[in-house]
Amino acid sequence: MDAEIIVVGSELLLGQIANTNAQYISHRLSSVGINVYYHTVVGDNRKRLLEALEIACKRADIIITTGGLGPTMDDLTKETVAEFLGLELVLHQPSAQAIREYFTRRGRTMSDNNLKQAMFPREAIILPNEVGTAPGAIIEKDGRTFIMLPGPPYEMQPMFENHVIPYLAQKGNEKIFSRVLRIYGIGESAVEEAIKDLLENQTNPTIAPLAAYGEVTLRLTVKCHRAQDPLELIKPVEDEIRRRLGRAVYGVDDDRLETVVARLLKEKGLTLAVAESCTGGLISNLLTDVPGISENLLETCVTYSNQAKINRLGVKPETLEAYGAVSPQTAQEMAEGILKTSGADIGLAVTGIAGPGGGSPEKPVGLVYIAIAMGGDVEVKRFHNQGDRKRIKFSTANTALDLLRR
Ligand code: ATP
Ligand code: MG
Repeated sequence: MDAEIIVVGSELLLGQIANTNAQYISHRLSSVGINVYYHTVVGDNRKRLLEALEIACKRADIIITTGGLGPTMDDLTKETVAEFLGLELVLHQPSAQAIREYFTRRGRTMSDNNLKQAMFPREAIILPNEVGTAPGAIIEKDGRTFIMLPGPPYEMQPMFENHVIPYLAQKGNEKIFSRVLRIYGIGESAVEEAIKDLLENQTNPTIAPLAAYGEVTLRLTVKCHRAQDPLELIKPVEDEIRRRLGRAVYGVDDDRLETVVARLLKEKGLTLAVAESCTGGLISNLLTDVPGISENLLETCVTYSNQAKINRLGVKPETLEAYGAVSPQTAQEMAEGILKTSGADIGLAVTGIAGPGGGSPEKPVGLVYIAIAMGGDVEVKRFHNQGDRKRIKFSTANTALDLLRR
C-alpha cells in the first residue's frame, strides 16, 4: 500500500512553521509497512486542495490530510474532501455531544460554528479527539482510504497512534525496519571501498552510507512481512560488514563513543580519570552526558598551562622544558599523574595544538598526543587532526574516546 500525505495550511507555505506532521506520519507509516512516496503541502484553499486530492488519487491508495479541521472559515479540509468524494456532510451527534461537553468541562460556552467540527459524511469512521475539539475521520471510497487529522501535533499524534495505526496495521502486512551501524576511525571512502560489492548488490537490506560529525554510519534497511523478525534479515549482512571493518564498528543505532566507553567501564568495573589540555574539558563534557557515569568516572581536570600540568599532575618541569607541552613525554607524564592523584584504574591524557596559531613545521596545528595509563603501562599515540580549532578539539575528544574503548 502506498500513501500520500497532504498537509493543509498556508502558514506552512509561508514558512512560519515546520512541517513536523508529515515527518511524524511518514516515520510511523514505515513501521507498519506503508510506503510514502509524496508529501504535498497546500494552502487553506478549496480549489488547490481539490487539485491536490485529484493528483494524490492517481498515485496513492491511502491519502492522509492534516490541518483545516477547526471551526473557522479558513478550515475547509472536510468540506473539500466531501465535495471531492461527492458526499454530503451531516451532523454527527456523538461528536456534537463530545464538543459540548468539552466546553462545559472548561466552563466556557460553545459558539455555533464549533458544531462545524461535528459535521461528517455519513460514511465516515469518526476518530475521537482526546485532547481537543476537532474529531478526525476515515473514509473508504472506491478502494481508497482518506484519513483526515487535525493540524496541531499534540492533537494529531495521539489520534494517529490510538486510531490510525491500529486501523492501518490490520490492512498492511509488511513493515520497514532500519538499523544503523556506527563507524569511527575510517573515512567514508575507505568504508565504501571495503564493502563496495555489498553496496552494489544488496537489495534487502539496502545499505546507505552517510558521513557526519567525523564518523561514518551505515543504515541497513529491510522490508519484510509484519510477522517476520527484521533482524534475521539484517544479521548476515551486518556480520559481513563487521568482519570486514573490524573494531571500527563501535556501535549501533543511538550509540555514541561516550556511551560505548561508559558501558565498557561499567561491564569491566573499571574507573577512569581524565587530564585534558587542548580539548578544554570536552572529553569530560561528553562523558558526563552519559547518565550513571559517576560510578566509573572519578575526576577530570583541565590543565591548560604548563604550571597547571606541573602543579596538578606532577609533570616534570624538565620534561616541559626539553620536549614542550605537546609531546609524547608530556602526554605520558600527564596520564601517569592523573592516574596517581585520582587512584583510578585508567588515566587518560590529551595534549595538542588546536590552532589556528602555535603551529610549527615540526609541530603543526592539529598535532595531538593521547596517552592512556593503566596498571604500570602507558601507551602514547600521535595523531594529526584536520580542520579549524573547534573541529580539532572535537575530533581529538572523539579519538581519545575511541582509544579508550579499544
Ligand atoms: P485548529 O482547530 O487548531 O484550527 P486545525 O485542524 O484546523 O486545528 P490548522 O488550523 O491547520 O489545524 O493548524 C493549527 C495549528 O497546528 C497550526 O497553527 C500549527 O501550529 C499546527 N500545525 C498545522 N499543521 C502542521 C504541520 N503540518 N506540522 C506541524 N504543525 C502543524
Ligand atoms: Mg484551523
